[in-house]
Order: sequence, then C-alpha cells, then structure tokens
Amino acid sequence: MEYCLLVDYYRKLEETSLKTEKTRIVSELLVLTPREDIEVIAQLVMGRAFPLWSEEVIGIASNLMIKAISKADGVREDEIIAKWKDCGDLGTVAEEFAKKKSQRLLFQKALPVSKVYSNLQKIAGLEGRRSQEKKLVLIAELLSLASPGDARFIVRTVLSDLRVGVAEGIMRDAIAKAYFADVYWKSTLFQKNGKKKRFETLLSTMKGKTIIAEDKIMDALRSGDGEIIESFEKENTIIVKDLEGIKKTSSFFQKNIGAEYVFVDDADIGNNLKKSIVNTVEEAYEIANDYGIVAKLALDAGEKGLSGLKMNVMRPIKVMLARKVETIAEAFSVVGTPAALEYKYDGFRMQIHKKGDDIRIYTRRLENVTDQFPDVVSYVRDGISAKECIVEGETVGLDTVTGNYLAFQKISKRIRRKYDIKKTASEIPVVVNLFDISYLDGKMLLKMPFLQRRSSLRSIVKEIPNKLVVAKQKITDDVKVADKFYAESLSAGNEGLMFKNLEAPYKPGSRVGHMIKLKPIMETLDLVIVGAEWGKGKRSGWLSSFVLACRDEETGNFLTIGKMGTGIKEKSDTGVSFDDMTKALSDHILREKKNAVDIAPFLVVEVAYEEIQKSSNYSSGYALRFPRLTKVRDDRGVDEVDCLSRVEELFGCQRMRG
Ligand code: AMP
Repeated sequence: MEYCLLVDYYRKLEETSLKTEKTRIVSELLVLTPREDIEVIAQLVMGRAFPLWSEEVIGIASNLMIKAISKADGVREDEIIAKWKDCGDLGTVAEEFAKKKSQRLLFQKALPVSKVYSNLQKIAGLEGRRSQEKKLVLIAELLSLASPGDARFIVRTVLSDLRVGVAEGIMRDAIAKAYFADVYWKSTLFQKNGKKKRFETLLSTMKGKTIIAEDKIMDALRSGDGEIIESFEKENTIIVKDLEGIKKTSSFFQKNIGAEYVFVDDADIGNNLKKSIVNTVEEAYEIANDYGIVAKLALDAGEKGLSGLKMNVMRPIKVMLARKVETIAEAFSVVGTPAALEYKYDGFRMQIHKKGDDIRIYTRRLENVTDQFPDVVSYVRDGISAKECIVEGETVGLDTVTGNYLAFQKISKRIRRKYDIKKTASEIPVVVNLFDISYLDGKMLLKMPFLQRRSSLRSIVKEIPNKLVVAKQKITDDVKVADKFYAESLSAGNEGLMFKNLEAPYKPGSRVGHMIKLKPIMETLDLVIVGAEWGKGKRSGWLSSFVLACRDEETGNFLTIGKMGTGIKEKSDTGVSFDDMTKALSDHILREKKNAVDIAPFLVVEVAYEEIQKSSNYSSGYALRFPRLTKVRDDRGVDEVDCLSRVEELFGCQRMRG
C-alpha cells in the first residue's frame, strides 16, 4: 500500500473530532488495506510504530529530526528552527520545505508503507556507538523519498506526536465495523430520514450483499412496499432464520465469507449482538495486546479466530487497574461482600513471565526490566514451581538496617539502573509480594474468578521470607475487621488496602470495579507533562513550571489542566530536583517559543493539589489550584494518565462536600 493513501486518511481524521466519524474513517481504511499491510497500518493509524508489548522504540528527539530535515531538504538547521518556533510543529515544517525543494518532481515514485515501516524497524534496532548518526541517515532517506504530505506525518510518527486522535476504543469499534456484519433492527430500518425510510436509502449500499434476516422482520418488510422488497430480495442473498438460528450463525457475521448485514426485530437483541461483536474484539485485544494482530485475525478467521486466541508467555499483557474509593463501606459496596482485602504495598508493579528457566520481568508500562532485577529472577526460579506462568506482584525496597520498607523513589532508581546492577541490588534489596496470576501451564486464567486464581497462585509459590511472598490477605464482609486490617497495613508501612471482588475475572487494561484501592492520603492525580518554561535567576538552565495534562479517553488527546512549580527540589538529595526533571525531559522537547517549550507526552507525575476549579485557561476546562509534585511515576505509561472524566468526577465530589 502507498503511504500517501494512509496520509489521505490521516487528513480526514484530523478534520473531525467526532468519535463515530473517526470510527467510520478508520474502518474504511482497514477495509481497503491489503491483508499484508493490516498489522502495520493498525499501529500507524494509532500513531505508533510498534505494538504496546514490543520492546522496540524509535528514540528520536526533535534535535535529531531537525538535522534529518536539513539533510533531506538541503536547508540550514537555523532556518528549520526559526520556522518551527513560528508554527510549532516539525511535521508542518518538513512539509513546507519539501514543497519548496525543486527536484521533487511529479514523477517521483510513491513511497510504500512497507518502506516507511522497514526504516522505522531499522532505527529501533540501532544501539550503541554512532547509532544516532545511522538513525539520522535512515530518516533523511525516508524524507527524501516522501511527498511533502507524507513528510509531515512521517516526522510526527517518528516523534510520537501524530495528533489524529485515534485511541484504542476507536480502533476496537473500527475493527468490529470493518470485518463484521452491521446489525440493524426494526426501528433503525423503519426510521424516517426526511421523506424516505432508512431502509430505502440503505438499499443502494446493500446491492449484491448477503444479509441474514430474522423471519419476523422479513414479514414486516414484505407487508410494506411490495416493489421495494421485491427488488431487495432479487438483488441480495437473503438468509432467513428465526432468532435462535441467527444467534447460532454468529460466526457467519464475518463479512468476507458470511453476511454483511444482519436484520433482527427487537432493539435489545440487535444492540446485544452489536455489543457481543465489539466484546469479542476487545477480549482478543486483552490477550494479544496488539490491534494489528486482532485486525488481521478478524479478517482471516472472524469470531472463531478471535475467541480462540491464546496468550503468549513472554509477551506482556496490560495490567488490571484499580478504582479509588474514600471509605471502607464504599469499597465493600463496589466489590461486594465478602471481599478479599490485601495490603496495598507501596512499590512498583511487576508482571513476571516464566517459561522453564527463562524469566522476564515487565513494569506496568510493559518495559522489560529483567536485567535490572537479577535478584528477583533468582527468587522466581527458586520459589515458583510452575513450568510456564504469568504472575503479578508489588515489589518493595527493604531497608537492610531497620527492616522497614523504603520509599518508592529509592527503588525507582533500580528500574533505571544500567551499570553496577549487582551492587545496587545488594544496597537496595527488594521483596516481591505476589497478588495475581493470569496464565499457568498452558491455561489462560483471565476468566477464572479471583479467589480461584489466588489459590492457583498459592499452589505454585514456595515463599522465601523477605524475598518472594504472597500478598497478605483477609476475606471478610465486616467493616470492623476491615478497619483493623487497614490500621495494621498502615502501621506496617504500607500505603493502604486493596479490596477485591472474589468472583471477578482479570480484565487487562481496565479500571473496572473488580479491584479497589483505599489510601488515607489526599487525592492525587496522575498527569503527564506536556510543556514547561525555562527557569530564571537561580533556576536558569533548568526547566521549571511544568504544564500538566489529563487524557481525553475518547480521542487519546492530552488536555492541559495547570502549571506546577512546587514539590520539586533545588538539590537531588532531598527528592526529585529541577535538574532531574530537566535531564528527563529535555530530549523530548517538541518546540520552543521564547522561554516556553512543548514536550512530547511521556513523563507521568503524581500531583497533589488544593482544589479543582473550572477554568477557561486550560484545554480541559479545569485548573488545579496549587498543584504539587508528589512522585515521578516513571513506572507508568501515558495511557494510565487520569482521564478528564476522573477530573470531572473529583470536581463533582468536591462540590458535594461543599
Ligand atoms: P495506584 O498505584 O494508587 O493506582 O494503586 C494501584 C496499584 O497498587 C497497583 O497497580 C499495584 O501496583 C499496587 N498494589 C500494591 N499492593 C497491591 C495488591 N495487594 N494488589 C494489587 N495491587 C497492589
């Protein structure tokens, strides 16, 4: 497929903010994508080069991109920077310079998507000495083969700043729409749209298609306009079934081999059929963690293929997320009683994969940190008897002198450590508190109730005190017992309590109410940094005043919600310093205007605040009063940033409390 075709769709997506319209556009793109390109297109349209589980990263910052544009278009870097400051987007800058370049002639061959992808893969594979130079050559090559329009989106993709607003929910619905039958029911078919009934207007698009129709609805159609139904029956292949028959043929909803439309009588039944198609796609995604794989499988093998998908040990899945409540009573009312209560350890989450002697450790943002934790690898080897499994736990640092837990910031050092790993491991020993299992010796346990998963976990763990243990748990429905357990957890140095529904399945990536957290400290928000200002006076040379953003769950876009300058220290030994923040962020600067910079969203921070206020100064419509940094959450991905709906909910609670 030609890259310029994808670019046409990027442009269409840019033009609308409507979720339904975006879904329609993406599904149209999927339908016309040749089978061999589906996996790549599914990633690219979401603004990624590689699926979430993949360890490949492009790792190119704006300064290298400026050099690549300069090389491809033969323009000076300072000219590029000047334009960039002016318009704020290096993609647009690349497009404009490419337009000016005289030798880009009309008969230049179109750039194939496969070439773009293969260069991105090569870039991700480069490491070590001179890798930056080699990366530069590979991007410049792409830019010189690209049309001006292509260049704009190649630059944005490489910088992880595509901005066409296709998040996972839109991709899921688009896959359902592209590869599965559309479901209609009586009221949607007979609805009047102007003078005509919907059915009449649909007829032209349905010509020659296969339709599964419930007998009742065919009767209703036949009793209507005789001529219309006669031509409809002649021009289409119509398979008439009763309702039970339709439900049984759901595997026949696969568009390319079965029906393109399904007509049923009842609205609820129609809605449920639609939902079940979307659910099948979603559940397949939970297992594969890759919409490329899901899209291709939906095309090739429909519902059967998707529901037969198996988890792969060594390919991380998203973790199930917890909702927050304020009181024990509220926690019980969400998860039901009795519930499993567990200590909420204050460390970082590990998803541990074991296949024989091969053990890999992933963070909650699915980064491979195996090399940083040789101690944990050996605990798992000694303490877990299963041949193959995926288990999860919270890993906490231990103070060797006092035996107490260490603060999160201390162990987060171990995640980033590249050298002296053994030494740091002995200085900051950790204990893994295992709390869940999702795969065991060939069996996926995602749908197994929590209580049974927990006993599966117990059955394979031989505890090693202070190294590898199963999370402390109490099953109860009694608020008093819970209160005591909560106090016990806090005095042991933990963050609070988790409440878990005993019957609940494991839902990867979801913040469903199967798991609840209760913490005594003030409400915080997990936000992402999207901008900053260069400091003045004693802070000059450092980034200060950080622009915070929450996430719009529909489009995946980031919406600003305030500026934060407090909670960050002048010196590193007392906490996170301005220097630490500057080092972490400066490679991710997208553009600069005077002393303000835009930063590619990647660094997640936990922020405390006094109050949430309505505000027209920020794109979220809200502003945080006195935001203060409490933690740098470098174990979290941007898809875990709190959503606008959470901000709205907190704002509402605030008002209720008066
Ligand atoms: P929060 O980090 O505040 O969103 O709370 C949820 C996190 O608590 C999870 O992602 C885990 O990293 C952590 N956690 C600590 N103890 C447990 C536990 N017993 N069960 C589940 N998660 C836990």
